Amino acid sequence: MSDTQEKKNNKKKSATPAKRFNFSLWYLVAVLLALFIAQAYMGGGKSEPLSYSRFKELLNEDAVKRVIITQENIRGEAMIDSAGVSVLTPFEAVRVDDPDLVKQLEEKGIDFEGRFESDWLKGFFFAWVLPLGIIILLWSFLIRRMGGGGGSGGLMSFGKSRAKVYMESATKINFKDVAGIDEAVEELKEVVEFLKQPAKFRALGAQIPKGVMLVGPPGTGKTLLAKAVAGEASVPFFSISGSDFVEMFVGVGAARVRDLFQQAQAKAPCIVFIDELDALGKARGASPWASHDEREQTLNALLVEMDGFESSKGVIIMAATNRPEILDMALMRPGRFDRQVVVDPPNIDGREAILKVHIRGKKISKDVNLRLIAARTPGFVGADLANSINEAALLAARRGKKEIEMPELEEAIDREMTGLERRSRVLTPKTKEKIAYHECGHAIVGAKLPNTDPVHRVSIIPRGTATLGHTLYLPSEEQYLISKQEIIDKIKVALGGRAAEEIIYGEITSGAYSDLQQVTAMARAMVMDYGMSEKLGQVVYRRRGHTPRDNPFQTQDDYYGEDTAQLIDQEVKEIIDRCYTEALQILRGNQDLLRNMAAELLKVEMLEGDKLAEFLGKDRITDYSEHIQTKDAPEPPAESPKEDDDDSVGHNLDKSG
Ligand code: ADP
Ligand code: MG
Ligand code: ZN
Repeated sequence: MSDTQEKKNNKKKSATPAKRFNFSLWYLVAVLLALFIAQAYMGGGKSEPLSYSRFKELLNEDAVKRVIITQENIRGEAMIDSAGVSVLTPFEAVRVDDPDLVKQLEEKGIDFEGRFESDWLKGFFFAWVLPLGIIILLWSFLIRRMGGGGGSGGLMSFGKSRAKVYMESATKINFKDVAGIDEAVEELKEVVEFLKQPAKFRALGAQIPKGVMLVGPPGTGKTLLAKAVAGEASVPFFSISGSDFVEMFVGVGAARVRDLFQQAQAKAPCIVFIDELDALGKARGASPWASHDEREQTLNALLVEMDGFESSKGVIIMAATNRPEILDMALMRPGRFDRQVVVDPPNIDGREAILKVHIRGKKISKDVNLRLIAARTPGFVGADLANSINEAALLAARRGKKEIEMPELEEAIDREMTGLERRSRVLTPKTKEKIAYHECGHAIVGAKLPNTDPVHRVSIIPRGTATLGHTLYLPSEEQYLISKQEIIDKIKVALGGRAAEEIIYGEITSGAYSDLQQVTAMARAMVMDYGMSEKLGQVVYRRRGHTPRDNPFQTQDDYYGEDTAQLIDQEVKEIIDRCYTEALQILRGNQDLLRNMAAELLKVEMLEGDKLAEFLGKDRITDYSEHIQTKDAPEPPAESPKEDDDDSVGHNLDKSG
């Protein structure tokens, strides 16, 4: 049992201290068990169990030779028939209250003795050792669980840090090994430049980024990218994984971090890479269960170190996470991880490029069509593609082929795909088509309305972290001044997805759920908060912080009675209905555009820049280069991390500009 738990809890670490601890516990239990068994058999080998009446019979037949009487049983030796011969056999019978026994034994002249046998060992074992053992086991198990699911910290592992700092003086990886995520590579080239020639930048007094955060779903190549940066700049690469810190005793992680930065500064220019930062940088106080002193201390140490050193020395800190939304805000502050690089899953071109990288050094048949493979694998990330190629190579070897051919690749993809389908990351063609129409619906309605933000990307690539780029346009009076017409247009845009589905398929899907949520919230805010409804006038009907959602029963705290409530509901519905009708109208008037654009989107999966301009017009889209620049500013946190799962038709229309 301890063994399987170990395996589950540490994926890769060889768990020495905890294992040692468990071993010694089991050792103790085993010794006691052995003692217990030995005691049970003490005073003789196998003895024949007899009933008391049989014992008495033997006694009467003068077969019994020797008797030992204890509180609980009677043991001894007797001539017992076995296969026709009488043999002297040890026996044992449970003692029965029999006052005549002693008299009888005396009469027969049998040698007998009374013995007081204490069962203290047995009692001790069952009353103390066993329960204690169970409690300790449970306890250590729980502690491990509370450690954030990270590893097998357990009780005795303090002082022994398993958070190893890996130092590679030269990663043999460079940008040639990274494909399909050109945007991210482009952004990191500057970092490489700086690492190569820090003096040049220093002389100009240029502001150098201190921390670069790579954000993207698992397997998109974040770790690879960080190594490639080090490889390109040929600088040492220090790496450590956030999850290693979680299980350690208080103080060790913080010491490690300080140590890491000291080492790094000595080797500057270099890169310090913190993988799986989310394990460490989880918003403080997120879990009510365990005190995460260690994680907090480590995080604080990291922040202190980051603040304390000058990036001009040439140490650049990179970090990777696939869950930016749970990170502590303090990490994103200027002077820390103030630059975020988004690593998106690749589109079809990207997938083809990644495949090309991974067939390097492998024997591949000439008639393998990588473009076709790329087309067949929407939703695959770099790691999936790398796996597929490897699997195909194995298959080819098993089949005794000299080269990898198309059938192997196809089969490898199918295998990978079933795995991914289970994780619901790959879409059926039909669903993809629906999503394409849905997203184009949003984009076209947006482009045809005057008061909307320009569109910068339309994509049907499933995104692992759905919140990324999916900016929520809930008008919030603390942040924006927003006009009535702007809200109305936003509502129309949000309804464009469903409107497109209705026009093309004559039916609607659940995929617009989160659109509708936004729409409802916006319309309600118009009526209840901003006084934008003629019928209800310039009145605020809702107390801040007391939205009906916080407390559905607390209506008297809001500023309206039941009649008004009805009126509000009517007005909200009317606004939405009107907007929906208009969205339908816009799309009906642009059906050809809708069909053409969706067809193109299905083919290339992501429309951006010039391609997008072909459909929407140059002034209705954001410039590609502009988009890269805006990324320098830290993105605002997603307001409510939205689960991707309840929302089978994706909402990848990225409206952030
Ligand atoms: P992440 O850190 O984002 O989870 P990794 O960098 O660990 O992903 O990727 C795992 C492996 O998948 C890499 O070692 C590489 O072989 C392959 N891979 C992932 N993304 C790419 C990419 N963009 N180009 C080439 N190979 C990739
Ligand atoms: Mg990684
Ligand atoms: Zn939508």
